[in-house]
Amino acid sequence: MLTESFPPGGNQERTLPLAGKVALVTGASRGIGRAIALDLARAGAAVAVNYLSDMNAAQAVAAEIIQLGASASIYQADVSQSKEASALVEEVVQNLGGLDILVNNAGISRDGLLLTARDEDIERVLRVNLLGAIFVSRAALRHFMRRGAGRIVNISSVVGFLGSSGQCLYAASKQGLVGFTRALAREMASRRILVNAVAPGYIQTEMTEALPTAIREKYLARIPLGRIGTPKEVADMVLFLVSPSASYITGQVFMVDGGLTLG
Ligand code: NAP
Repeated sequence: MLTESFPPGGNQERTLPLAGKVALVTGASRGIGRAIALDLARAGAAVAVNYLSDMNAAQAVAAEIIQLGASASIYQADVSQSKEASALVEEVVQNLGGLDILVNNAGISRDGLLLTARDEDIERVLRVNLLGAIFVSRAALRHFMRRGAGRIVNISSVVGFLGSSGQCLYAASKQGLVGFTRALAREMASRRILVNAVAPGYIQTEMTEALPTAIREKYLARIPLGRIGTPKEVADMVLFLVSPSASYITGQVFMVDGGLTLG
């Protein structure tokens, strides 16, 4: 699963909030996942960059992290497959000496009317977005419990709250993550494992570039802040939730959406 690793750098000073922590970010080869990986590295964490297919992009993210003086390794794994998800976590723990933070970011969309949706698209969206997070979390919990601490952040979406015509599968998977977040937060609270979700609005990435212009314009018109968000703005919320500053927050969902869900 591990395709390449890089030696630890010198970004482990005690003053950095995540110094000495190991973070796994799924789907970190581009977009929001990439921004999260970079933010966590800037805060001092050693970062495991998971990707599905684009090894060059994952390597570029790892190289950026090394430039920051932090440690990075890249891991190819399809999180929607239970065995691959478990092996991913095991390899990260083995290579980086543990696991403290998991960000379930990997996600896909297969937009279109439910009436004509194919079985394989229905299954794929739910498998990657929902089961992927469940599989990787289950594997990570074993290590978190051993350490008596851990942070999980699930990347949901405002679409799970607002609904969106043509995005039934995506909405179901993203609201499913909210229920998962709340239940797991209760289940793990006594073990000092905190579980939260971030629900981004309309963020500038390859995923949203693929949206039809009509849907993009519809969203833009409804955003009170009047602009599309950046991956870094989502990453900053994730960074807060995995930092010592968020030690009394669990089972919550945070919208990073420029006010889109205000209605
Ligand atoms: P993106 O640019 O399409 O990137 C998706 C990432 O997920 C890539 O790194 C991809 O790896 C990886 N990935 C896809 N399937 C995977 C699998 N089965 N196993 C492991 N990795 C997989 O997406 P994004 O826009 O940054 O979105 C990131 C997350 O934020 C998603 O969960 C998305 O639903 C959520 N979100 C995005 C927006 C938005 O406006 N962009 C809004 C709300 C929520 P490869 O490149 O190697 O294929």
